[in-house]
Amino acid sequence: MEPAPADELQAAAALLRCEHSFPVQPPEGTLWAPGPCTHCGTPSANYPRDIPERLHEPLAAVLAKAAEQARRNELLAPRHRRDVTTALGLARALNGGDHG
Ligand SMILES: [Zn+2]
Repeated sequence: MEPAPADELQAAAALLRCEHSFPVQPPEGTLWAPGPCTHCGTPSANYPRDIPERLHEPLAAVLAKAAEQARRNELLAPRHRRDVTTALGLARALNGGDHG
């Protein structure tokens, strides 16, 4: 079964708000393996490291708002449904980060 849009949006927002430690591995100098989130323990496989840090919170805010709207789906005006659909594309790109 497909996850609910609200859940996909919320998961992507959480991903952007996760904080992973990035320990440098001394032997190679430049190797690093992010640890799990220091808050919720989520593994770092999907950490959106190709998105600048300064964009994480603004994007998370957009996704969290869209998740709210998706939860109230039956009340949504068409304009808001489009916003949710647009945000869902962003959420799926983030959530699918471990595939590419
Ligand atoms: Zn987390």
